[in-house]
Amino acid sequence: MTKPIHLDDGEALASVGASSPAHDSHQSLREEIDLLRILLGETEATGIAQAERAEDARVLVEETRLVAEDARVLAEGARLRAEDARLRAEAARILAEDARLEVRRISDIHDEQRLLVHDLIGVGADSVIVLDETYTVTYMNQQAMDEVSEGQSVVGQKLLDVYPRIETTPFWKRYKRVMEERVSIAFEDFYEPRNTWYQVNAAPVGKGIAFFFRDVTDRRRRDAALQRTEKLAAVGRLASSISHEINNPLESVTNLLYLIQTSKSAGDDTRMYAQLAASELARVSHIVTQTLKFHRQSTDATETRASEILESVLALFHGRAVTLGTEVHTRYAATDTLLCFAGDMRQVFANLIGNALDATGEGGTIWLRTRVGHDPHTGAAGVRVTVADNGCGMSAVTQRSIFEAFFTTKGATGTGLGLWVSHEIIHNHRGTVHVRSSENPAHRGTVFSVFFPD
Ligand code: ADP
Ligand code: MG
Repeated sequence: MTKPIHLDDGEALASVGASSPAHDSHQSLREEIDLLRILLGETEATGIAQAERAEDARVLVEETRLVAEDARVLAEGARLRAEDARLRAEAARILAEDARLEVRRISDIHDEQRLLVHDLIGVGADSVIVLDETYTVTYMNQQAMDEVSEGQSVVGQKLLDVYPRIETTPFWKRYKRVMEERVSIAFEDFYEPRNTWYQVNAAPVGKGIAFFFRDVTDRRRRDAALQRTEKLAAVGRLASSISHEINNPLESVTNLLYLIQTSKSAGDDTRMYAQLAASELARVSHIVTQTLKFHRQSTDATETRASEILESVLALFHGRAVTLGTEVHTRYAATDTLLCFAGDMRQVFANLIGNALDATGEGGTIWLRTRVGHDPHTGAAGVRVTVADNGCGMSAVTQRSIFEAFFTTKGATGTGLGLWVSHEIIHNHRGTVHVRSSENPAHRGTVFSVFFPD
């Protein structure tokens, strides 16, 4: 920043004229101007004012001022008591011309910087809005227009006129704080009117404020989903260690029940009860071993029968299917071996069967089938697994989005991650998945067909 310099030069410049012969006084004047420039350094001059006044017949007073945008006088030169009016006029002209060039140079730099800033804001991923002290929008970049005003500029309008609902949000309180206390703040919050999470940096700029913001909704939801998955994994580990602990006593109880069933001293009733207890217990131990298996994710792909995986998943859903009164029909090929990560595969079929159960209400039916066959597109040999249900079916619009992360029609009870994850897993196994679904009451239902090449 240049300090205002007052060159009351009467003496300085007058002495040029006084002490130098006329022919080299021009040269001295130039030096004087260079000195002025050195003194001024990086000047913030934006304009120049000039005046010429004849005090009397022999004296000409010339004023040249370098003025800043806010009308401060940065420098004032050549106020001369001239003896040689011609020389003084020339001095003023040169000084003025130099100053004008300087002003142009500075304003070029200024323009360049403004363009640079504009470009930088333009290419950034953030939306930017600038408000003046009356909360009127004075600038917004394209990203901001796309994000909050359907591609249209709202420059010149008051923020609250355009977005009246912002006043009830925490965003408004923060913007007011930045405006009034002149502090910068960064925050992340949920903006209800747009149902969106924003990350915002707000800072005082000039007399107003600027805020940079970006939509972080997906990241927030992913974080939340991740947390849920982590919780599930922890629960899985817990379940696995519990099932491990339960397994041993279960085995002894199974043996004891066997002894009762075969005991000659026990009555018929007793033996029948023992038999019932044993079959229930068999289910419990099945579930326990399945939970254990479920959790043990092997690091290598193994040869596993698709039907075995389906059966282990069914065991888990048995309780729910019974409660819902859903029938399950299975038909398996004799050889339906897959080279796969069995834990992953269980996850896929648990998702498909879980969805089928969600879709079929009271008294529905689910069909599970494995077949050895060929991919209709590539002709490759492999195993096809179908999970079909006569549940509610899906509309064409729903079908288009089911494999997207977070897409769910189940409100708070759905995560919208099941099919997304399944699709990833199938893809990682070089498999393909096809869906057919209908809402037509005559043949309502959904068929998921997954093909794994050998
Ligand atoms: P979620 O089950 O958590 O909703 P998914 O990714 O498993 O997430 O499924 C996404 C959506 O696909 C479901 O919300 C539902 O609308 C639809 N869908 C999936 N399977 C079926 C099915 N068998 N019958 C009807 N709709 C289904
Ligand atoms: Mg699901």
